[in-house]
Amino acid sequence: MPFPPTRAAALEQLENFVPLAAKYASTRNFDLGTGHHTGVSQLSPYLRTRLITEEEATRAVLGKHSPRAAEKFLQEIAWRTYWKGWLEMRPAVWSHYTSTLADLEKQRKLPDYQNAITGNTGIACFDHWANELTSTCYLHNHARMWFASIWIFTLKLPWQLGADFFLTHLIDADPASNTLSWRWVAGLHTRGKHYLSRASNIEKFTHGRFNPSGQLNESATPLTEQTDFEKQPLHLPQNPKPSGRTGHLIFPEDLSPPPESIGNITATAAFIPPSLNTTPLVENFLSGAVHDTLHHTHGTLLTGTFESALNDWISAEKLDSIIISKPTVGIARDFLESENLPIQPQPFIRDWDRELWPKATAGFFKLKKALPKIHSSLTYPRHEDLFPHI
Ligand SMILES: Cc1cc2nc3c(=O)[nH]c(=O)nc-3n(C[C@H](O)[C@H](O)[C@H](O)COP(=O)(O)OP(=O)(O)OC[C@H]3O[C@@H](n4cnc5c(N)ncnc54)[C@H](O)[C@@H]3O)c2cc1C
Repeated sequence: MPFPPTRAAALEQLENFVPLAAKYASTRNFDLGTGHHTGVSQLSPYLRTRLITEEEATRAVLGKHSPRAAEKFLQEIAWRTYWKGWLEMRPAVWSHYTSTLADLEKQRKLPDYQNAITGNTGIACFDHWANELTSTCYLHNHARMWFASIWIFTLKLPWQLGADFFLTHLIDADPASNTLSWRWVAGLHTRGKHYLSRASNIEKFTHGRFNPSGQLNESATPLTEQTDFEKQPLHLPQNPKPSGRTGHLIFPEDLSPPPESIGNITATAAFIPPSLNTTPLVENFLSGAVHDTLHHTHGTLLTGTFESALNDWISAEKLDSIIISKPTVGIARDFLESENLPIQPQPFIRDWDRELWPKATAGFFKLKKALPKIHSSLTYPRHEDLFPHI
């Protein structure tokens, strides 16, 4: 498996990448082909599940480089946080996407859609990326941008079906980063500003492996939509301070330990909510990552019906309260909200999210501006403390 689903593998990947973080600005845009994505970190499956957190990755990089030298990489790390914060304030963007997807079900039978997802469009680069995605579960960021743009503007397929194709196959599938990046490419995030794939740009940044000259619509106009998604206030309650016997409930979207300020945890359990749609490769990664976490915490995997498994765990551990990392807008939160639970889990919010989500009110700039202050407030662990014996 290219991404072993363990914290040890995540730390090893981070340790290997840290020396390259200062070069990242000049290497990151080149897609060097399947198995050769050495100009980027490939940390996303680990950051997505929080086998390592954005804060940990930031601290590791700042332990070796100045904020200025690694500026580009540190900003990219924060894009994940930005998309999450932005979607937290506009949950209707997600629910509108999932309901539109249901309405598009019939289009999945159409030849154009089938050709796109099976890599049979005749556009060599696009077909290559469709196959790379389905066989490896990963695509380089630039390939994701080109692919989404060709899907929307050249093949003229609905962006929601493309986003769903990514969400099904990406090992780092993330409702916020994925939905909002597709909307950004389409010109719906920053209204009127879309991302157009150009053959010359693809040729340059694939080192000439592809040149779809004459095959792309390079003059398309941005998509538009009728719906106006109003911004809602961000609800960030204080972290719980539970007394008595406390259980930590884990979903695969945050596998890191809770903040120490929460106090003693009596027991840990994890549940893997059913996804909208996913593949065995992605399922194996998520399940492996959850098992690795449970191994380190001596926790229990809740299987079968969530409500009854949770009840059994509460009784077995004699729990008075349950804490959970605040489920963010997307699959896990939809699932939790649909359940009728015996004890309502109390959400906690990590300092990183608490500090940065409120900055995601509009474009990325406001959050980017807040980064230097955050970087200067972090302490940088010694290399041997962060990477003890991997
Ligand atoms: C259409 C489209 C769909 C996407 N879908 C997803 C998705 O489902 N899940 C996902 O994690 N990312 C998604 N991204 C963002 C980005 O492509 C990936 O995070 C990145 O390619 C992961 O590879 P890496 O770890 O090697 O990235 P690196 O270039 O090494 O970046 C380091 C880290 O910074 C963060 N990051 C970098 N670029 C972005 C970005 N544009 N948006 C958000 N975070 C970023 C990621 O956590 C990444 O691991 C999408 C981008 C596009 C254009």
